Amino acid sequence: MRSPIDDYLHEVLRDCRDDDAGDVMSGNRELERADPSSFGIALTTVDGTVYTAGDADHEFSMQSIAKLPAYALALRDRGLDGVLDRVDTEPSGDAFNEISLEAETGRPRNALINAGAIAVHGMLDGDGATERVDRIVDLMGTLAGRELSVDREVHSAELASDDHNTALAYLLRSAGKLDYEPDEVVDGYAAQCAIKVSCRDLAVMGSVLANGGLSTTDDERLLDGWITRHLLSVMATCGMYDGSGSWMATVGIPAKSGVSGAILGVLPGQVGVAVWSPRLDEQGNSVRGVAVFERLSRDMELHMMHVA
Ligand code: GLN
Repeated sequence: MRSPIDDYLHEVLRDCRDDDAGDVMSGNRELERADPSSFGIALTTVDGTVYTAGDADHEFSMQSIAKLPAYALALRDRGLDGVLDRVDTEPSGDAFNEISLEAETGRPRNALINAGAIAVHGMLDGDGATERVDRIVDLMGTLAGRELSVDREVHSAELASDDHNTALAYLLRSAGKLDYEPDEVVDGYAAQCAIKVSCRDLAVMGSVLANGGLSTTDDERLLDGWITRHLLSVMATCGMYDGSGSWMATVGIPAKSGVSGAILGVLPGQVGVAVWSPRLDEQGNSVRGVAVFERLSRDMELHMMHVA
């Protein structure tokens, strides 16, 4: 049965549907094939209830949102200091694929831009790219509450257009920031971008982050509290790339976007929200996704800095 919250999400979807600004991601033959009219919303509360509207169960590739479970694993494997040694936690103010490396240390500015995510992938424990990717897929599946897999078509399309990320990986190796061969790291990073999820999966994962790392169905600990807090902090400052500052001011929810057109937002203690619509703005963030979050933030008073 549809609840008033489902009805509300349908209303938001209807109101934002006419916005056809922006373009689907170009330069990747699989992402280019996305239906630009696709549009889904899912919202999961910390008590585990899921509300949906539109294409909430349609699958797409995680793209940059996979930087979150990969980062969580690196923090588990290396501890905070070990990770900070390789990747900083400062907003870059630059585009997601910029060569944002600190002049003195060669560290990428943060783990949510490509340079940082490639460095993160290059420090994960695991014997070979396949094992490291499997670990990310497993953790993501644990957080989403179902088994997930890599979309092989998207993976190979990523690799066919990955010169830029390959260049970043070689630069990182020259700065001593990779444990493995650059080509192997780029292969693994491209596979993590290609993990298939739906808005429902992302919203469930978001609700676990909102719940401090505990499952919202049975309270089992899925992520350490300090890792969850760290992820949310970096999402709040760096998750929307060079749109992060205006996002925090207008929406006020820690979030992470990906170029397949998904945005995952997490309001600590309350909800995980995911929106998917493939047309992107200049920063590579979903146009309708941003519009939906602005609306939810306003209507439901979700802004973190809102004082009632
Ligand atoms: N696969 C994309 C890349 O590596 C992911 C970037 C993104 O989602 N912003 O460039």
